[in-house]
Amino acid sequence: MTDKRTALVTGAARGIGAAVAQRLAADGMNVAVLDLDESACEQTVSTISAAGGRAIAVGADVSDEDQVASAVDRIDEELGAPTVLVNNAGILRDNLLFKMSLSDWRQVMEVHLAGAFLMTRAVQGHMVSAKYGRIVSMSSTAALGNRGQANYSSAKAGLQGLTKTLAIELGKFGITANSIAPGFIKTDMTAATAARMGMEFEELIASGAAQIPVARVGQPEDVAHVASFLCSEGAGFVSGQAIYVAGGPVC
Ligand code: NAP
Repeated sequence: MTDKRTALVTGAARGIGAAVAQRLAADGMNVAVLDLDESACEQTVSTISAAGGRAIAVGADVSDEDQVASAVDRIDEELGAPTVLVNNAGILRDNLLFKMSLSDWRQVMEVHLAGAFLMTRAVQGHMVSAKYGRIVSMSSTAALGNRGQANYSSAKAGLQGLTKTLAIELGKFGITANSIAPGFIKTDMTAATAARMGMEFEELIASGAAQIPVARVGQPEDVAHVASFLCSEGAGFVSGQAIYVAGGPVC
């Protein structure tokens, strides 16, 4: 145990979650790198360790109540009480509405929405005891609606509603809750989208960049930078917000 704050980042084996975990470690936090497969977290953990930070790999499914409870207990014992939470784990099950199965709908709701609910509920006691907490949940520009993503856009809009409610309920305990809504970020998730559309990833990146005012797609570090701010002590008067990180305005 140290007196450093402990952050828990879900879906942190790769992509945006890995960049956020590395950034929070660089900011001076101990970091629990949580993902479905514990061994997949080792790359992020070793990058943090090599930079002089402290991190542990934790395997858990964020949509499983028992696994979430065990993971949070283990993090509390091994790293210290988690008072910073980044709900980042996510999946895609895209399809046009008429082809979307109930299973596709439920899986997306389970991981994004139930996952964020379960994780937040499991850590909030530690935050209330510490009279300090930072909760950041990964929404998306898809929250505003996106073709082929009835499930995902509903979940991402739901996360913004959850965030506002958490801000209202938990604010008096020194806890803030905010969401980040990224646009096109270059990760395995967008690479998988390109593959599903039958496009080369570079082709999708070029067409995405052409529509973005700053004329490029985002990198995981662009999102990590905003997460770093929202998870900082100084951001204590920013709560209940959705911050769009999309290289321009979105509507
Ligand atoms: P990614 O590269 O696919 O990484 C997501 C991670 O979440 C994976 O390591 C995945 O593990 C893990 N995960 C999935 N289900 C899980 C579960 N039930 N429990 C624990 N971990 C789980 O995605 P990303 O692009 O970095 O996206 C991260 C977040 O940002 C997601 O919430 C995504 O919706 C959101 N976002 C991304 C973009 C973008 O353009 N990339 C834009 C807006 C929002 P497995 O590999 O084992 O499945």
